[in-house]
Amino acid sequence: MNTPDLIFPEFHPGSVWLAGAGPGDPTLLTLAVHHGLQKADVIVYDALVDERILGLANPAAIQEYAGKRGGRPSTDQTDISQKLVSLAQENKRVLRLKGGDPMVFGRGPQECETLIAAGISFRILPGITAGIGGLAYAGIPVTSRDTNAAVTFITGHTAGGDIPDDVDWESLSKGSPTLVIYMGSKHLGRIRDRLIAAGRMGAEPVALISKATTEDQKTVVTTLEQCTEDLSRSGVKAPMIIVIGPTVTYHEAFSWFCPS
Ligand code: SAH
Repeated sequence: MNTPDLIFPEFHPGSVWLAGAGPGDPTLLTLAVHHGLQKADVIVYDALVDERILGLANPAAIQEYAGKRGGRPSTDQTDISQKLVSLAQENKRVLRLKGGDPMVFGRGPQECETLIAAGISFRILPGITAGIGGLAYAGIPVTSRDTNAAVTFITGHTAGGDIPDDVDWESLSKGSPTLVIYMGSKHLGRIRDRLIAAGRMGAEPVALISKATTEDQKTVVTTLEQCTEDLSRSGVKAPMIIVIGPTVTYHEAFSWFCPS
């Protein structure tokens, strides 16, 4: 790549770069993460990282999978964090590559804590999170002057697999016009019930954006009342971002990404 005027940070042996690969489309990768891919000795990557992104790595780099895909067993979070520590202690340059942004519902903070406890130096390289990049590819603004001055990112799923108890659905419902929900498809019915009970209108627009930024992207526009039925009827699958709120209505006019 011809980038003569850019000064990239030094990737020191024995350090870890915690990096975001973006939501899918490899061209959304940042130059910093691309640089990390070129310089790393080892790349520890997650399930949602596109193979074409891994294809940009230095061919000499070792690529290690750390996640759940294609029926392979999941790797425990403690094991992954410890693996990063031991690779760094072997004086490797370790690129920890996660889907989206590493600090958005991505267990990046837990990995940082383990690295700090082990005295390993690290750098955090942001990526485009699905809740922003996915909306852009669906032609849905995250904010618009005419509809919402605030937005809330929520996980629909706790580490234990349930709908999060520490989310105050009542306050969110009243205070945040636009809700962007990650990992929400499994509990969509319960989320809808909580929001309607807290006063959100059944007719409120909802978008289900599946496999955003990839060739398989599909957007289903529905309403809060109808969303679970339309989810099963449409057959769209995770990974999926759910958007609830007035900006969804822009989709009709702004939709621009039409993969075949
Ligand atoms: N760190 C990631 C999020 C990890 S949690 C980020 O910043 O994007 C995983 C969830 O992210 C998925 O369940 C889904 O809700 C969302 N997600 C990730 N990639 C996606 C994609 N390409 N399309 C739609 N949703 C996606």
